[in-house]
Amino acid sequence: MTGDRIWLFDTTLRDGGQTRGIDFTVADKQFIAQTLADFGLDYIEGGWPGANPTDDQFFSEKQNLGTAQLVAFGMTRRSGRSAENDPGLSAILNAHSDSSCLVGKSWDFHVTKALNISLEENLAMISESVAAAKACKQESMFDCEHYFDGYKANSEYALKCVGAALAGGADWVILCDTNGGCLPEEVFDITAATKAAYPECRLGIHCHNDAGMAVANTLAAVRAGARHVQGTINGLGERCGNADLITLIPNLMIKMGFQTNIPVEKLPRLTSLAHAIDERLNRLPDPHAPYVGTAAFAHKGGLHASAAQKDPRTYEHVSPESVGNQRSYLISDQTGKSNILARFAEVGIEIDPKDSRLDGLITEVKDKEFNGWAFDSAEASFELLARRRLDGVASFFEIGRFRVMDERRFNARGELVVESEATASLIVNGETHHEVAVGNGPVNAVDTAVRKALVKVYPQLADVELVDYKVRILPASDRSSGTAAVTRVLIEFQDSTGLRWRTVGVSANIIDASVNALSDGMCWKLIHSG
Ligand SMILES: [Zn+2]
Repeated sequence: MTGDRIWLFDTTLRDGGQTRGIDFTVADKQFIAQTLADFGLDYIEGGWPGANPTDDQFFSEKQNLGTAQLVAFGMTRRSGRSAENDPGLSAILNAHSDSSCLVGKSWDFHVTKALNISLEENLAMISESVAAAKACKQESMFDCEHYFDGYKANSEYALKCVGAALAGGADWVILCDTNGGCLPEEVFDITAATKAAYPECRLGIHCHNDAGMAVANTLAAVRAGARHVQGTINGLGERCGNADLITLIPNLMIKMGFQTNIPVEKLPRLTSLAHAIDERLNRLPDPHAPYVGTAAFAHKGGLHASAAQKDPRTYEHVSPESVGNQRSYLISDQTGKSNILARFAEVGIEIDPKDSRLDGLITEVKDKEFNGWAFDSAEASFELLARRRLDGVASFFEIGRFRVMDERRFNARGELVVESEATASLIVNGETHHEVAVGNGPVNAVDTAVRKALVKVYPQLADVELVDYKVRILPASDRSSGTAAVTRVLIEFQDSTGLRWRTVGVSANIIDASVNALSDGMCWKLIHSG
């Protein structure tokens, strides 16, 4: 056990973006960066400026991440160019980021075969690029690609690459198991040898999970002296993924006694954090995920359950409360209650734990979550649900009938067009309004019609924009009640002050689910604009 500090570096938005089926929008990146910064991560690697339009846009404006540093990733300068005159490197140095993390080769075989340059030129590329970043960023970090494989092939050269990064002024040198095939003993030995060669060097570790060892290898490197840990939320990443920060954080903090920037009192937010990122990315959370999976503390009948009921330590390695999870055979237990109370506090609702309305509210939240509502990533809907039950919410408007027609046809120019037309009727302040609107899709048409009516009475809704819209069909098999699939819609809104909020709607009908989420979004804005 140790009280040493570990620096946590998230690469969900960069390496995690390589996951099959994941395609971040700029809004996704902003939401995830903000969520991780709020949780207490030290570094958020936002992507690779210059590599694609999404990352360019994300880095084109300053993100306010509090104490967390936003990191831009990229490659060292190319051979034959100076660091000042390399467009790729300039894109990183000019990006709105606090710090940078540059990657370069540390395996001689890759240098001579893949880059086809001399070993000396590669060392110069590392030290000059790291130095160029150091001159304009808060911190300059260097990722030694294929470090462990490189060390096994030519330890002297791999160490020289670390030395080159240090000569350039690197704040952290990160040893990468890029192919993910190492075992923990190897990672421990090589990290320890590197630490011995450069005792002053601040070492980091970046592992992939191809041998199922990413978490174990990361911990081995930490035992050998690495104090900077890279990984992704839920182990996202190409092939078998990256080291999973959601598993690493409790291992480091609860099991090994390390300090991080995450206060211990925040660890119970871990389960909700893991789920919020999955929900945002339209992924089903893995029920068997360590610490945070719904099955992680599920005791199935018989001996285990009865022993666990006598004393949970019989079949649990840590308490589920410590990471915000819960034992599954207890339904409305204190654990569920304290989690939900903490979530209320987060959206600004103080409620006495002895309040008699609380049990009903908790049951409603649990029922809804069971039936597809995803409140972890829709805090505005969560807040409205609580306020409606606790102190009531003014009835700003009521959406009555709506009707949508979709038409696919050839226009006069012979082009195939698809248009939607919606009519909606609303009661606003006792008056009925009928509106008609066309849109490029059914949701857009209904949104426009509803908004036409609302803005007349509530001009403060005129600046509300939809910045993100996600749909997921939840098969009946994911829920034990009901026989048909339902649709879940998550919407993110923004107003002209930059304020963002998120809502959820669930229905068998996609338009109805969308209208419910839209209606919550407008209602939330009305409450918060006085
Ligand atoms: Zn990687």
